[in-house]
Amino acid sequence: MSTSVQTNSDQAFQRCLSPDCLATYDLGEALTACKQCGELLDVVYDWEHLPIPDTLSQFQSKWSRRNQPLCHSGVWRFHELLPFAPPEKVVTLGEGQTLLHASDGVAQYIGLNRGGLFLQYEGMNPSGSFKDNGMSAAFTHAHTIGAKRAACASTGNTSASLALYCGVSKLMQAVIFIGSGKISYGKLSQALDYGALTIQIAGDFDDAMHRVQQVTEQLGIYLVNSVNPFRLEGQKTIMYRVLEGLDWQTPDWIVVPGGNLGNSSAFGKAFLELHQLGLIDRIPRLAVINAAGADTFYELVENRGLKWNQGRPDRKIIEQYYRELDETKQRASTIASAIEINRPVNLSKCLRAIDVCQGVVREVTDQQILDAKSQVGANGLGCEPASAASVAGTKLLRAEGVISPSDRVVCILTGHQLKDPTATVAYHTSDQNEFDRVLASRGVLQARYANQAIAVANNLDEIVSAIQANN
Ligand SMILES: *Cc1c(COP(=O)(O)O)cnc(C)c1O
Ligand SMILES: [Zn+2]
Repeated sequence: MSTSVQTNSDQAFQRCLSPDCLATYDLGEALTACKQCGELLDVVYDWEHLPIPDTLSQFQSKWSRRNQPLCHSGVWRFHELLPFAPPEKVVTLGEGQTLLHASDGVAQYIGLNRGGLFLQYEGMNPSGSFKDNGMSAAFTHAHTIGAKRAACASTGNTSASLALYCGVSKLMQAVIFIGSGKISYGKLSQALDYGALTIQIAGDFDDAMHRVQQVTEQLGIYLVNSVNPFRLEGQKTIMYRVLEGLDWQTPDWIVVPGGNLGNSSAFGKAFLELHQLGLIDRIPRLAVINAAGADTFYELVENRGLKWNQGRPDRKIIEQYYRELDETKQRASTIASAIEINRPVNLSKCLRAIDVCQGVVREVTDQQILDAKSQVGANGLGCEPASAASVAGTKLLRAEGVISPSDRVVCILTGHQLKDPTATVAYHTSDQNEFDRVLASRGVLQARYANQAIAVANNLDEIVSAIQANN
């Protein structure tokens, strides 16, 4: 789908990521890849001709004007750093009202000094995950170019978010593609409740992603998966809020779960731009954490030596690995369903992020993820399994000595605890059958921090003695 609508003069445009191509496209085009070479696209700005604050702290004054929708949104408060749409076209539902929380309890679990660990709790977004940051931006772009239908493939949270923006704004119809049996009820219930047209495909996320790209192209539907470069513009603001939470000081590490690698790619772009604009003098290191059952990025970067290589990553390494996945019929499999993805669409952009941020990639098991999740919960911030990969990954990097005890580390908690209660309840259950069904089948053998309910008869004496025995 393409129109000739000019959105924000020529101070912003889309550009191919490949240095050998660098084809540019007008903002009015809805594209998910370069038409010349198939690489991903970036949104690029002519900063010299745009009004940029001299210091990041100037954004703070907007908070006192939060009665205005653009200042109320944690995304659009930073409009000057993602100026692709005119303010009157912005669609906002108050996304990005999220804060950075210090957690000494989780710091202790990880092995960091007191005061060194921060959790950026993106579960507090309107649809319960960080996806709203990106959806507000992509939706705004779709609205600017007059789209009437928007689609995505989803492990759950993108569809919940799209359904919400469509349902509330009434500007577009949502069409969502999900794999069968893979989506948690918390997320599915949102899409259905908000009124999205829901297509459940007999396949997994990678299958749904492949089909949605075909269908949107054939029917001219706007695609809001993170191959959409505007999504990532909105997700940059998560890093602006992290900096804000640290009084505009750069932390040593940002740790984030990696699924389709949109978030990590957006973070890399955010820091690259802030550095180029002279708004920060130091770039933090980035750690991207895969689940061991969906560890393509880890395998490619840490074991097979894949690098950004100034925009010319060795495609043969990727193709060879995907061939092996096909030949061995390997499918992504992890309890952390939001990162259960074997062919991450933002692979090349994330290589750039790793390059910009001197990044590392690690994998953690479902056991490590759920143990970490229980510690996040025990310290007062519930998250879904995928989010806890960031905490589990930090603990691993601390044990390796890559992160030192005195480092300041920010873990991104990507989604809310109530998104996936099945995993939480199974972890804490005393019912061995339930534990085996949900967890042991995934190699989780022990719920180290389980807080089991105590079953008692409906009898006063037994209830009293159960309480006293567990004091
Ligand atoms: C989408 C999602 C992820 C993965 O993010 P990517 O940008 O795809 O790497 C992680 N956690 C949660 C809760 C998500 O919804
Ligand atoms: Zn190109």
